[in-house]
Amino acid sequence: METNKKRIVIALGGNALQKKGEASAEAQQKIAGETARALAPLIKAGHQIVIVHGNGPQVGNIVIHEEAINTSEVPTLPLDSCVAMSQGSIGYWLQQALTDELKKDGLNNTVVTIITQMLVDENDDAFQNPTKPIGPYYETEKEAQNDAKARGFIVKEDSGRGWRRVVPSPKPLDIIEKDAVIKLVDSGFVVIAAGGGGVPVAMTNNEDLHGVEAVIDKDYSAAVLADLIEADSLIILTAVDSVAINYGTPQQKAIHNVTVAKMKEYIGQGHFPAGSMLPKVKSAVQFVNKPGRKAIIASLESASEAIDGAVGTTITLH
Ligand code: ADP
Ligand code: MG
Repeated sequence: METNKKRIVIALGGNALQKKGEASAEAQQKIAGETARALAPLIKAGHQIVIVHGNGPQVGNIVIHEEAINTSEVPTLPLDSCVAMSQGSIGYWLQQALTDELKKDGLNNTVVTIITQMLVDENDDAFQNPTKPIGPYYETEKEAQNDAKARGFIVKEDSGRGWRRVVPSPKPLDIIEKDAVIKLVDSGFVVIAAGGGGVPVAMTNNEDLHGVEAVIDKDYSAAVLADLIEADSLIILTAVDSVAINYGTPQQKAIHNVTVAKMKEYIGQGHFPAGSMLPKVKSAVQFVNKPGRKAIIASLESASEAIDGAVGTTITLH
């Protein structure tokens, strides 16, 4: 590739697909349109793009539908199948929105979603300690606890934003379809992969793959994917312009450029909450383990400026 044309993995946060719990297909497709407008300049610039999106609100809603009816004719499908459904619907919305947006500029790249299986360890500690919030917020803790008891699941407080159902979130290890991602991106396709963190699958004693009931964090999956496909950059797009230290205090200070060593120091000092910014900074640090690689955490709107380091937080090895 020309040196200014990069292979970039883009992780899309919740705000790229849904706002204020507006969960209709129409509302989500409208947001997908805005997301496509923010990402299109990167595709126009000739970069190879692989998109990883989250699915917390969407997969939670699919689970609610699945659990609402459970008969022999219409049985409730398990969580791994729900993650696959969310890959399909969100991938479809993004494919359509990006295709339309690129067409406006005379580009005809095909945008394609890969139903992606992500290998996890069935003995991951996460299965003993569910942490990943899915679905809508409850009005009150009491309502959350009552529902949890009645329906046999666990609820937790989500980063000061309210109570939600939580499910296990094991660490992603390997992508079963990684060869396909590389071939497609090399051929000029815009690829959507590992949506919702990927469908969690396990392999016991080298036997067949089987789905496990969990939702993987899309930030960690994006880092694994970026590493496997030897991306140049990992861009994590979210609702804030940059990562800050002393976030939410009068001493808050935005970080513009930072080394892996310094970011590890900030992680150790507890600047990043586990349910929101910590997975992003950890994923960034995990990916940037070679010179020449960089990770960027920035707002969705600033995607095309952030790639050149003009805005956002850029993490490099040295
Ligand atoms: P996403 O849906 O993109 O994964 P999250 O809500 O999980 O987004 O995490 C991003 C959010 O983390 C930001 O919008 C911000 O509110 C919050 N946040 C917490 N700590 C920090 C920090 N130190 N710097 C910047 N943002 C932070
Ligand atoms: Mg998040």
